[in-house]
Amino acid sequence: MGEVDEDDYRAGNEVQRSESPGIRFMQRSNINGPIYERIQQVGEGTYGKVYKAKNKITGALVALKRLRLETEREGFPITANREIGLLQSFDHRNIVGLSEMMVERNQVFMVFPYMSHDLSGILQQQEIKISDGEKKNIFRQLLEGINYLHKKRVIHRDIKGSNILISTDGVLKITDFGLARAMKNINPKVESPNYTNRVITLWYRPPEILLGSTDYGREIDIWGIGCLLLELFTRHAVFQGTNEVDQLLKVYDIMGTIKTSEWPDADRLPWFEMLRPNFHTESKFKEKFGGILSTECFDLAASLLRMNPAQRMTAEEALRHPYFQEEPAEASLEFLKHVRGEWHEFEAKRKRKEMRQQQLQQQQHQQQQQQRMSI
Ligand code: ADP
Ligand code: MG
Repeated sequence: MGEVDEDDYRAGNEVQRSESPGIRFMQRSNINGPIYERIQQVGEGTYGKVYKAKNKITGALVALKRLRLETEREGFPITANREIGLLQSFDHRNIVGLSEMMVERNQVFMVFPYMSHDLSGILQQQEIKISDGEKKNIFRQLLEGINYLHKKRVIHRDIKGSNILISTDGVLKITDFGLARAMKNINPKVESPNYTNRVITLWYRPPEILLGSTDYGREIDIWGIGCLLLELFTRHAVFQGTNEVDQLLKVYDIMGTIKTSEWPDADRLPWFEMLRPNFHTESKFKEKFGGILSTECFDLAASLLRMNPAQRMTAEEALRHPYFQEEPAEASLEFLKHVRGEWHEFEAKRKRKEMRQQQLQQQQHQQQQQQRMSI
């Protein structure tokens, strides 16, 4: 299994930098006691918890992403190894940088510079107002990061708000390369790439993945980016399916069912026949978003969210879109300096849960009072 994985990695030739991908440095922190003082948990992920911590010597704030090793029987987890290898090959302002690896009491951590917010956390706080110029700034940084990855033949495969970090000084960084892959060299005569299609959080999954495609490309990230552009304006995910079939229906509901004129080879997708809807709907995209986006912004969103992946705009093209030239101009993200609290999806979820509980308690209290009154 390990061999296959390494092959995949090497295939993305530009990604590769050192002879042996993997861990290049490892910090032992328990010689003079722990170097990092944990402050609080800021994330609960698919394969580990993330903590905010402070370097006791330099005072620098970091995020410690703990790797769950207990689930691995055969040594270091392959997924973590892949994530570390990829991270070490990146060097871009809009991609998170791995500071070091650390071992503490048999636990392994990835150490990152700490970022106060993630996009999901920020968008869920309705009291944080974001102007159109600021949205443009956020979105441009997101495109710069994705364009860098795509140029290096890396597909992120899990684009969503909680994987987009934002610092108080307004720098956006794409993180979480747990699912990312270097693209295999595409040579149709040899084999089709055949990646797993179990990727991408449901709400950000493009139609080709929902229809079973396993030879997808960078376009799957572009769909997620398109979803995030809309989300900057609506503050909530646009296609909220409850399962894979429902997800496809949610997409059809807004974008319309697949037209052969727009996507002639859709019928070659593995689950096309099985999931073929017995109805036709036209796109309601313009109706829904035409009014809340400027003409150029709407055009950009529509180009990123083309049903046919072959017609989807690339990140590079998107960066040249007239949306970035039209008024209002991009505004600096100064407002982040004045945001109270630190907002990651984790805290936003906890806050929502607390609010729901409070509401419930209030309702119960009111009911009890009413009952008492009626006695
Ligand atoms: P997972 O694979 O578990 O989703 P992530 O790398 O996405 O792991 O981390 C989970 C969460 O932890 C993120 O959604 C984010 O809110 C928080 N987080 C991750 N990295 C940092 C960081 N460098 N600074 C601050 N918070 C972070
Ligand atoms: Mg994540």
